[in-house]
Amino acid sequence: MRTTVWILGDQLLEQHPALMAAVAEEGRNHLHVVLVESRARAARLPYQRKKLVLLFSAMRHYAVMLKEQGYAVEILRAADMLSGLRKHIAAWRPDRIYCMAASEYAGRRFQERLDSRLGVPVVVLPNTQFLSGQFDPIPKPQAGKRYVMENFYRAMRRHFNLLMEQDGKPTGDLWNYDAENRRPLPKGTLPPERLRFEPDEITRQVMQEVAVIDNGVGTVDGFDLAVNHREATQAFLDFLDHRLESFGPYEDAMSSRSDILFHSLLSPYLNIGLLEPLPVAQLAEARFRDGQATLQSVEGFIRQVIGWREFIYWQYWRQMPGLKEVNFWNAHCSLPGFFWNAETDMNCLRIVLERALHYGYTHHIERLMVLSNFCLLAGISPQQVTDWFTACFVDAYEWVMLPNVLGMGLHADGGIIATKPYIASANYINKMSDYCAACRYDPKLRHGQNACPFNLLYWNFLIQHEQILRSGPRMGPNVLSLRRIGIKEQQAIQQQAGELSAIFSLVDLDPP
Ligand SMILES: Cc1cc2nc3c(=O)[nH]c(=O)nc-3n(C[C@H](O)[C@H](O)[C@H](O)COP(=O)(O)OP(=O)(O)OC[C@H]3O[C@@H](n4cnc5c(N)ncnc54)[C@H](O)[C@@H]3O)c2cc1C
Ligand code: SF4
Repeated sequence: MRTTVWILGDQLLEQHPALMAAVAEEGRNHLHVVLVESRARAARLPYQRKKLVLLFSAMRHYAVMLKEQGYAVEILRAADMLSGLRKHIAAWRPDRIYCMAASEYAGRRFQERLDSRLGVPVVVLPNTQFLSGQFDPIPKPQAGKRYVMENFYRAMRRHFNLLMEQDGKPTGDLWNYDAENRRPLPKGTLPPERLRFEPDEITRQVMQEVAVIDNGVGTVDGFDLAVNHREATQAFLDFLDHRLESFGPYEDAMSSRSDILFHSLLSPYLNIGLLEPLPVAQLAEARFRDGQATLQSVEGFIRQVIGWREFIYWQYWRQMPGLKEVNFWNAHCSLPGFFWNAETDMNCLRIVLERALHYGYTHHIERLMVLSNFCLLAGISPQQVTDWFTACFVDAYEWVMLPNVLGMGLHADGGIIATKPYIASANYINKMSDYCAACRYDPKLRHGQNACPFNLLYWNFLIQHEQILRSGPRMGPNVLSLRRIGIKEQQAIQQQAGELSAIFSLVDLDPP
């Protein structure tokens, strides 16, 4: 029996279930492993070039690793996935294909129809990259019912025995230390430099190939990410040794002095299988048990990995395929051009956009409270925003980007993922960052020539959507503060906010 094991580029697991299953049944002699570099997939959008380098280099390093383990491995460069697989089948003539379920919707539908298109039986094994595949806290969700992350997270902690005591209580008696984790970065504090990796020969070759792709974001210059399991583990240990301790308190801080602050920068690796969530969470817990990190930081980190990450994946599958089209606020404006070149005098946006465009990374709060906050307040079309996020970030994959952007960032799903819209005026950005101090706008002014555009847009949004916001209990305090603003000032805000559309060259994509 000749078997092909087809491994997707974002499934570079050390113990890939399709490979393990095929070897357990037939041994290694009649087995070919195939990875396909699809040109059509890489050209679908103008992707971040550093993401393409990461993906292709990691695939090629993975192939080398499997060859060293004695497997026959082929990397196929093809126009698209189907033609790549057809080429392989014509040459090797397998009796069956083993693969692992794709984490994305279109990929899974493609796999379901594959045997009829290839004329070979295709066995699709369950995806093991997510813990919610092993234990689903909400196996039968009710239609229309809202599920909150907190309960999901607690069930995951109990099931995987993370930060739990023998009496069934959470370690430290609290499930959540969020209230202690909202500090701005103190003046003069410089977070430690992260570990950077010198590109090897394989990566340099990929960089040359990606550099000449016409349609891309950013450049390949300065690529320094991990591209194999060994390096990704080193990057993780570097986080545990140097940043985990301060992860919690400064989780929400933003600074012009550092892009990652005390964050882990592990999403690019977790998302393609170079790291796996359970060992990552367990090793972080061990640092607390050994007295090397506080509970506040370790709980905060574990919450991200087994709480938010898993909940987001669960929500993606619950809401697809409809999630792509959601537009709760009926937002139809085009994305301003400065999102593609960072040429804006709004200092917070300029700094964060430069990071996204050049490095493909900004940390969570910048994605949420600067980028998507702006897009939600300015009424940008959710689909334009998702295309932009997909194009720019090194860790962008549909299963994680859609729920985060549409659900958490833009509240375009009407509150299924996040219980309130994450909107804020300049006050929040000023409190949590050093951006406003160097900005030409005044974060304290609500309107007028020097008023911060975030303020104009924020108050305008509250005025425009007052009725809807009033009906959501968690938005009450924000809307109530509108009462402090007289009708004349409200009119001035609305007029000036309207003028911003011209300044940002926002085009209504769907005029009435
Ligand atoms: C608008 C918006 C867009 C986003 N787009 C992406 C994306 O394309 N790809 C992506 O991986 N994440 C995305 N996120 C989630 C989150 O911002 C990133 O996972 C995180 O910033 C990655 O940086 P880090 O590894 O330093 O994370 P850390 O802050 O160190 O967190 C540790 C890990 O927890 C996980 N995690 C934390 N928050 C989330 C979350 N909300 N959803 C999923 N996993 C989470 C990640 O795997 C991350 O590596 C987005 C969030 C928002 C608000
Ligand atoms: S003043 Fe406004 S635009 Fe300028 S950095 Fe602060 S929040 Fe951003």
